[in-house]
Amino acid sequence: MRTSIASISIAARAVLNMHSLNNEGGEGNQIQTRMVDIIGHDGELHNVNAISGDMLKHVLMEHFYQQARARHVSLCESCQRFNTNRINADKDFFKRADDKKWSDADFIDQMLQTCAIDDVAGILITEGKRSVPRKSISEFGWVLGLPGKVSTDSYFHVKYATERGADKRAEDAEGQKSGANLGQSIFHRPASSGVYALVCHLELARIGYNDIKQDYAISDEERQLRASLLLESLMHTFIELNGAMRSTQLPHLVALEGMITTSTGVTPAPLISPLMGGEDHPYAYREQAADIVTALNGNGEEIVKLQTFDTISDFATQMRTLLDVSRQRKAVYVDCCTLLIGSTFLTEASGGNLVWRQDSSCSHTIRYQDGTAGCSYPYIWSCGRRKSFFFLA
Ligand SMILES: [Zn+2]
Repeated sequence: MRTSIASISIAARAVLNMHSLNNEGGEGNQIQTRMVDIIGHDGELHNVNAISGDMLKHVLMEHFYQQARARHVSLCESCQRFNTNRINADKDFFKRADDKKWSDADFIDQMLQTCAIDDVAGILITEGKRSVPRKSISEFGWVLGLPGKVSTDSYFHVKYATERGADKRAEDAEGQKSGANLGQSIFHRPASSGVYALVCHLELARIGYNDIKQDYAISDEERQLRASLLLESLMHTFIELNGAMRSTQLPHLVALEGMITTSTGVTPAPLISPLMGGEDHPYAYREQAADIVTALNGNGEEIVKLQTFDTISDFATQMRTLLDVSRQRKAVYVDCCTLLIGSTFLTEASGGNLVWRQDSSCSHTIRYQDGTAGCSYPYIWSCGRRKSFFFLA
């Protein structure tokens, strides 16, 4: 049976050698890499090399952009050029967004229908005197070096000039005033090697979801397509770590091991930092995650799943399997006070009746009327005055 993924989390340790994926600027001819302070598993502060989550999310969106263009997925005019201002820079869209006609909820609907990148990457609409947020589907943490297992050094480089005669040097010095930088020059670049901890989370069930209307703005097919392209892009992000200085300092990705957790309901896919355990207990985060998954599922259906991977190819294979079996789930929203126990309502997506009932543990459940489809389990959470239900579409 095909399963659907409502949310997915990935935690991994990656061994990267001689990379300079994220730098924060330069002083003179010295480029400086990102260093951050973190608390290690020993409870002590450590200064470690890091790559910001912005970098990874940007890489994810680059991959998603390529995928979306190849599959002719709807993108706003701005995102068609991969402009990071996203829909805020789409003048035609804002011409259509007439303040008097469109409420904020209508605006979000139109935005979700117009652009897949604004949908999955999120945006704060500030254009047109509006302030409408779209929360991102994808979330990345900083990629952090494991204390004691990461090292950064600075390396000397030269831009070599073939002609160094007195006339040429004088000419180059003159050019220096205009910023042309024509002469021979030396500079220092950082490179880091070590074990890095990565965390990310995707809320696939929210793709195309209007948080104001509490309903989907796009068709199930479109949501399914965006979700699978996003998962594909995520796989590419981990395998091809884009970032700064790749033309001469392409990182050596030597190893990747970690875990993928998925949830087919509103129970979140658990995420634990791979920093846990440090050098001494490298699998502590996976062991804890396994216990959490057991606790979350209890004696009921297996909503949350954990799988581990020990190599880069293992990761790619598991992601491919997830991609092949994933299918978006649809949320149904009903006003709980109008829904009586035993009443039925029709859903377009399933084409069948759903029965509202109360089970022995007194939690509300939704089941297909014929008891099949294998989805029936109480996915319920309170959302203001409404109750939300997820089921297989
Ligand atoms: Zn866009």
